[in-house]
Amino acid sequence: MPILDLPYQNPISKDKKILYKNARIIDPKTNYDQIGELLTIGDKIADFGKNLNAKADQEIDCRGLVLAPGLIDIQVHFRDPGQTHKEDLASGSASAVAGGITAVVCQPNTNPVLDSVLTFDYLRLKSREIAYCNVMAYGAITKSMKGEELSDMNSLHQAGAVGFTDDGLPVMNANVMRRAFEYSKNLNVVIAQHAEDLNLSNKGCINEGIVSLELGVRGIPNISESVIVERDLSILEAVGGRYHLLHCSTSQALDAIRRAKEKGLNVTVEVSPHHFTLSEDQVLISKTNAKMNPPLRSKEDRSALIAGLKSGLIDAIATDHAPHDLISKEKTLEEASFGIVGVETMLPLSLALYHNKILTLPQLLAKMTCNPAKIINYDGGEIKKLGRADLVLIDLDCEWKIDSSKFLSKSKNSPFDNFNVKGRAVMTVVAGKIVYSL
Ligand SMILES: [Zn+2]
Repeated sequence: MPILDLPYQNPISKDKKILYKNARIIDPKTNYDQIGELLTIGDKIADFGKNLNAKADQEIDCRGLVLAPGLIDIQVHFRDPGQTHKEDLASGSASAVAGGITAVVCQPNTNPVLDSVLTFDYLRLKSREIAYCNVMAYGAITKSMKGEELSDMNSLHQAGAVGFTDDGLPVMNANVMRRAFEYSKNLNVVIAQHAEDLNLSNKGCINEGIVSLELGVRGIPNISESVIVERDLSILEAVGGRYHLLHCSTSQALDAIRRAKEKGLNVTVEVSPHHFTLSEDQVLISKTNAKMNPPLRSKEDRSALIAGLKSGLIDAIATDHAPHDLISKEKTLEEASFGIVGVETMLPLSLALYHNKILTLPQLLAKMTCNPAKIINYDGGEIKKLGRADLVLIDLDCEWKIDSSKFLSKSKNSPFDNFNVKGRAVMTVVAGKIVYSL
């Protein structure tokens, strides 16, 4: 059984020294990649280098494994408050650290919605008490995520909101989107969009394509995503601000982002591991466990996402971790809930990009550390002196089979059950404390 510990409820003593020896230290932000040692004192990185000659209270032989900044997942649904039978801050964060993730950004579509200072206070206090990693959250763009009236962004930002989104739902009203950009501009935070034109989606449940035709179910067309992205980028160009596209799934949306970046607009984009690992035909195998929103797309879209990762167009990898209980998934494709769990499989699935020589290791890790940190203005995701001691120790080459029954998440809804993968997190450190060890 893995070992778990709470970094804030049970914090490391301020002067405790831990020396990580014989580690391949990688800092994607500076492209540092050396075998050496890293010393933490309390919750900070004190030093790192080839040979520190340091005395420590504890020494850990890293056996040449990769020691990198802890991963940052800027898209998770921990269902807390409101649906804690599916996940809560304890189980979600346990699941995260088991995947090498040391910081997450929760989406606001909880019950109640994260649209008030009170909900942010709850999240902060509760996660200090029961979470195994750093927990942040986006605030809702609109009150109750109804898409009508803007939330009080200023107060929410002061209460800790790292950006704003109505994820789960798109902001369909263009004028609301315009106002959101205007308000967020002064706060210098992103407006993150779940890009989906609900009229074009027309209650579709999987990608509109060969598989939806074969199964005779309603599909969600690619333009459902891209028309909203094109609209948002037009508004952004006129108004200013920062735009972040959540879980991009189509080549058309990615093209729009490319053009916007070429124009110099302040735009970032993330992709989820399932979208660059699988395509729509996985629905025939995994059924409702391959149903998520946006859906798994065509092979051409998948290739475009991989090309976008390779070229650097895609800034970040984020899971869209969406736990559901059995009842929500043991239904017809049309009736089942959207979403799959992801925090425990992000790293091994993403490492395939490295093993298949699509990205170098620093390039890949940047998309899960310093790049997402920048998107949410977070002081983390790098290895630097006096930086936060949030780290992950990665065994790149261990081959193993994903077993969803062993997930620390309360939910097991994953199309990757029984998948053969290579590489995983073997130890995770949050605020200097070893919070997870395989
Ligand atoms: Zn979404």
